[in-house]
Amino acid sequence: MTAADPVDRLLATARGEPVDEPFRVTGVMVQYYYVCERELWFESRNLEIDRENATVVRGTRVDETAYSDKRENLNLGMISLDLLDDGRVVEVKPSSTLTEPAEMQLSYYLWYLDRVADIQRDGVLAHPRERKREPVVLTAERKDKVETAIGGIHEIVSQSSPPPAEEKPFCDSCAYHDFCWC
Ligand code: SF4
Repeated sequence: MTAADPVDRLLATARGEPVDEPFRVTGVMVQYYYVCERELWFESRNLEIDRENATVVRGTRVDETAYSDKRENLNLGMISLDLLDDGRVVEVKPSSTLTEPAEMQLSYYLWYLDRVADIQRDGVLAHPRERKREPVVLTAERKDKVETAIGGIHEIVSQSSPPPAEEKPFCDSCAYHDFCWC
C-alpha cells in the first residue's frame, strides 16, 4: 500500500496493514514537536542521550509514584499510556510548565485510541505536586490539531538534516545541548 498522507500512513502502520514506508509517531515525538523541532528530529534518529537532567529540569518526567494504585499502563502499538480506574487516560507531569506540549501528547493518545482502536476516552492532565488536574477532551478541534501536528512531524523527520538550532529558555537542560551550542 502506498499512502502519501502522513495520517493515512500512520494509521495503516498502526493497524498492521502493508505500507511501503511505515510511519510511527510516539507520544514523546508529539511533545517534542511543540517543544523544539530540532529535538524532535534528533529523537526520530534514536539519538539516545541521558535524558534524566532534561526531563527533571523541564518538569516533563512522568512521576512513577503518582496515582500508582489507580492507574495501569497500556501499550498499544506505537504508544504507551496510563489508564485511571475510571477509564480516563492520564498523563502525569510534575510541573505545569510547557502545558501545550503535554496537552497535545495526551490529545494524541486520545486520538490514537479513537482512530486505531475505536475506543473513545477522555483524558486528564495531572500535576500532583501542584494539586492540579486538567480535563482534556478530544474535540473536533483537537482532532484537527493532532492531525496537523502529525503532518508537521512527518515533514520534520523526513528532512535529511535537523532544523537549525534556535535558542530556547530550556536549552541548557536539553540532552542535545552539546549538538547545538558547542
Ligand atoms: S539545545 Fe535547544 S535548540 Fe538544541 S535540541 Fe535542545 S531545545 Fe532544541
